[in-house]
Amino acid sequence: MIRSTQISIPTLVRVKEGALDRVGLYLSRDKRHNVAVLVSKSLQSQILDRVATSLKEHEVSIAAWIEVADNQIELAAQLLADLPGNLSALVGVGGGKALDMAKYVGFLSRLPYYSVPTSLSNDGICSPQSSLTIRGRRRSFPAAIPYGVIIDTAVCLNAPRILTLSGVGDLVAKFTAVRDWKLAFHETGEPVNDFAALLSDGSIHSYLNHPDFDLQGIRLLATSLLLNGMAMEICGSSRPASGSEHLISHALDTITAEPRLHGLQVGIATYLVSRLQGFNTDIIAALFDATGFWPTIAENPFSREDWKSAIRAAPTVKENFYTILSRNGAIQDAERFLDDDPRLVNCFRD
Ligand SMILES: [Zn+2]
Repeated sequence: MIRSTQISIPTLVRVKEGALDRVGLYLSRDKRHNVAVLVSKSLQSQILDRVATSLKEHEVSIAAWIEVADNQIELAAQLLADLPGNLSALVGVGGGKALDMAKYVGFLSRLPYYSVPTSLSNDGICSPQSSLTIRGRRRSFPAAIPYGVIIDTAVCLNAPRILTLSGVGDLVAKFTAVRDWKLAFHETGEPVNDFAALLSDGSIHSYLNHPDFDLQGIRLLATSLLLNGMAMEICGSSRPASGSEHLISHALDTITAEPRLHGLQVGIATYLVSRLQGFNTDIIAALFDATGFWPTIAENPFSREDWKSAIRAAPTVKENFYTILSRNGAIQDAERFLDDDPRLVNCFRD
């Protein structure tokens, strides 16, 4: 199928220190004078106060201020029904769940949506999909690229480190996702969108040059995650951002009693899949050394049993989706790596 190359891109992008205090300015410049704000329930009041003050200063009325504690799709429908009339924009402030909800409600309502992440736990900050739960299980739903993306690097730097590590895990997945995509092309003829693959692959390398917990490192992580979201929009599929490492994580979400942060699951699965693919393993391992990803996982290891079940279930998660796990013997090899890879050994408990 030939797909139209018409894509949408965010009109406003700000990635800088202090951007949070300028949300009101950005909205008023765009003539958005009546907005609904969806915020993460657990967000520090100090962050919320800064947003509210900025909106007030620039005479942007807050028609609704909604705390979001969950990302159930049923709740999104409820929020849509409860939105006041005459809104000129929707603003999402906070972390993963609230932003996924806000993006989805923005998509359903056709209102311009402004994404204001306060942490960088995954590539959903500017992607055309929302990760929501349906009957208690995480799933991706089609949404739209935000109209605006406003990232305050100082705020994200102060976010709990485990959230940033989750973002790092979701970012490295692009190594294995792009390779799976190319494998699928060779095995099944599935077309690869060269530009999307290039963008996805290239975005990791800028972060690899400076994977530090400082403003520059956060800026690079934010822009890399943002470009990954755009890569998905460019090719109209999640292929450039999500391969067999995501299949394992999706399977885990179904199997384990308490799924962990998306990027923590995906990061470990990426390392595992890189071993199967025979590429980039040392680069991924070095990045996990530099960022402290390994010890963070070792502090609270995953269940080896759950992971083995997830690896076996992964190839059935998506239909007609060829990955390295589709190859004969790949599942057995992956299970063996869980037991004997020296880096993975501390990441699992029996
Ligand atoms: Zn992801």
